[in-house]
Amino acid sequence: MSTPCSKCGKPAVYLRRYTMEQLCKSCLVKTTQLRVQKTINKGKMLREDDRIAVAISGGKDSAVLLEILVQIEKDYPRTELAPLTIDEGIKGYRDRALEAARELCSKLDLALEVRTFKDLFGHSLDWIVENRENSSTGACSYCGVLRRQALNTAALEIEADVVVTGHNLDDEAQTVVMNVMRGDSRRIARTNRSQEFPIPGLVPRAKPIKELSERDIVAYAYYLHLPYHDVTCPYAEEAYRNDIRTFLNEMEHKRPGTLLAILRSGDAIAEIYELLPQVARIHKCVSCGMPTSKKICKACSLLAEFGG
Ligand code: SF4
Ligand code: ZN
Repeated sequence: MSTPCSKCGKPAVYLRRYTMEQLCKSCLVKTTQLRVQKTINKGKMLREDDRIAVAISGGKDSAVLLEILVQIEKDYPRTELAPLTIDEGIKGYRDRALEAARELCSKLDLALEVRTFKDLFGHSLDWIVENRENSSTGACSYCGVLRRQALNTAALEIEADVVVTGHNLDDEAQTVVMNVMRGDSRRIARTNRSQEFPIPGLVPRAKPIKELSERDIVAYAYYLHLPYHDVTCPYAEEAYRNDIRTFLNEMEHKRPGTLLAILRSGDAIAEIYELLPQVARIHKCVSCGMPTSKKICKACSLLAEFGG
């Protein structure tokens, strides 16, 4: 006989380790959605009439994020969901993920906006990697800075009030630990800035699924048959993150709740930094007009190598 669901007694299909709940498909879906709703409410991430740009990568995390938001936002008819994909131009990778993103949006009856690095910056990431002068700047350094800029530009263009991204609990806990181990706890504050302290010209960011574990996300996507693309980027240079991931997975296995505790510590650090007077003054980049603490923003200084 199969194990009964801890919530309703129907046959369970999934064990949620950190709560030790056995869940049937329907309770897995409901409790996952409820968890996201709670994260949104607690972090005051969204308002009832927000136009929400949802960053869609084509992977499982953003697929689950969008599907859950569609369900939650049914209760808030004045909210608008605007799925948005940044196509960096990585052949054999992003183009295939983009197909999954399109399939997902058509399943959910939403129009997908796509912006490419080529249109926004004049070059695809593949071109940048081939033509960079200094190969010590890795593909991910260009990609991360430019994608951040691209998302902000696109969100401003479509007049979004907020950009939501599909960072999950595992990603977030890894990032907190990596920043601590690099001695850069200030960065934790920069990546977790709340909407209560906006920066002019920067569309606020929120991470509604940051309390969902990767395991919960995979199960949710599987049981709801969400289309997604699950191949690693050919440029991935994540040796350090992989070490942290292995270590944290072991800790989580031994002591369930470790990841969530790290996330809470990261949030607490971010809150403390937000209360301190801002050291860096934010003004407009002299080249592109985006907010920056320097004269020229990071994206423009990276692109200068290729003639602007
Ligand atoms: Fe960009 Fe690096 Fe991620 Fe590939 S692995 S999509 S290059 S940040
Ligand atoms: Zn700039």
